[in-house]
Amino acid sequence: MAKSPDIRIKTSGELVILREAGKILAGIFDSMKSFVKVGVTTAEIDQVIESLIMKNKVGAAFKGYRGFPACACISVNEEVIHGIPGKRLIKDGDIVGVDIGIVYQDYYSDMAMTLGVGSVESGHQKLLDVTRQGLMRGISEARPGNRLGDISHAVQSYVESKGFSIVRDFVGHGIGRQLHEDPEIPNYGAPKQGPLLKAGMVFAIEPMVNMGTARTKVLSDGWTAVTVDKKPSAHFEHTVAITESGPVILTEK
Ligand code: MG
Repeated sequence: MAKSPDIRIKTSGELVILREAGKILAGIFDSMKSFVKVGVTTAEIDQVIESLIMKNKVGAAFKGYRGFPACACISVNEEVIHGIPGKRLIKDGDIVGVDIGIVYQDYYSDMAMTLGVGSVESGHQKLLDVTRQGLMRGISEARPGNRLGDISHAVQSYVESKGFSIVRDFVGHGIGRQLHEDPEIPNYGAPKQGPLLKAGMVFAIEPMVNMGTARTKVLSDGWTAVTVDKKPSAHFEHTVAITESGPVILTEK
């Protein structure tokens, strides 16, 4: 059996910093969205994000992380996560996943959303809506007395009931003084299983949902994960605190 995870409980002071970090990150998303449009490259979107990170005087958590070369992961259509910003041009109807991590007063915040550009096919729009809603279903289970599997199961059961598939190859994570802390948070699993959830835990919950097969592969750049059937994929993420009164989404304004 695997070693039980070391899930750090944050103090109220740490939660104040994490809430501030989350507000800043949500603000960066608000300011960035209008730049995700037809005719720009993913590298240009990353430049906008880098300038917003600098303007807010926070650190770019992803840049240099295991050698990742940019501030954001930008993953278009069949790209699931970890897309490296580059020359890819955004086209009408694309769905564009943007994942940003920041560090503020030595604490990390992590958030992602997938944006539809121009006239998005209805099936692709449904993929976005179901992924966002799947995240919210998972977040609603992030409360003391539940177990980690309750979050995982809520995401999986909702997404699969809508006819989409849950990526297994990548998972969410605890977050705080480190970008990735224990536990791993799968978006699939059985209810009432796994570690007991307690107030003070902070999780980055991040379902990745595919139109077709759940299977993914990593491209030769060593980062970009794509669907093996090249069908589209969506990704939404919030950093969430578990409190006595239930889940609190930190990455919103
Ligand atoms: Mg994350």
